Amino acid sequence: MAKAVFLDRDGVINFERGEYTFNLKDFVINDGVIEALINFQSKGYLLFVITNQSGISKGIYTHRHVKNIHDFLTNKLKDSGINIQGIYYCPHHPEQTNCLCRKPNSLLVEKAIARFDIHPQSSFFIGDKDRDIFAGGSAGLTGILIESNSSLLELLSVIP
Ligand SMILES: [Mg+2]
Ligand SMILES: [Zn+2]
Repeated sequence: MAKAVFLDRDGVINFERGEYTFNLKDFVINDGVIEALINFQSKGYLLFVITNQSGISKGIYTHRHVKNIHDFLTNKLKDSGINIQGIYYCPHHPEQTNCLCRKPNSLLVEKAIARFDIHPQSSFFIGDKDRDIFAGGSAGLTGILIESNSSLLELLSVIP
């Protein structure tokens, strides 16, 4: 079985601005992310991003905006030799749609676990909100709560 590190997006991968990030000009990768992901990958972890993007459901932005950002992120990381297995997002908002994919629900995590045959007990979820930790915990992962926009380099010794 594989092991994996799941990461929240806003506040973990890129700068959390306190408002929706859907334009490329506002998508700034946080310091330490590239180095940390190289480290996790070298330790044998598959890498996933799991993100709530309820601005779609609210009509603030579209799937196209999200795809643009995720294509940019995928390519940017690829330039550094980092392979992201999947970026999964929930477009729903509870005011419009009740769903099982919005964190703290764990459906997106469980999808990745099933598809890539991941061993949850050897895997981690890094997030900056309690709902990230709940989503990971429901799927059997170890949650690591960080402060928004803090450096992932602090986790190199936490993730074995
Ligand atoms: Mg976040
Ligand atoms: Zn959803």
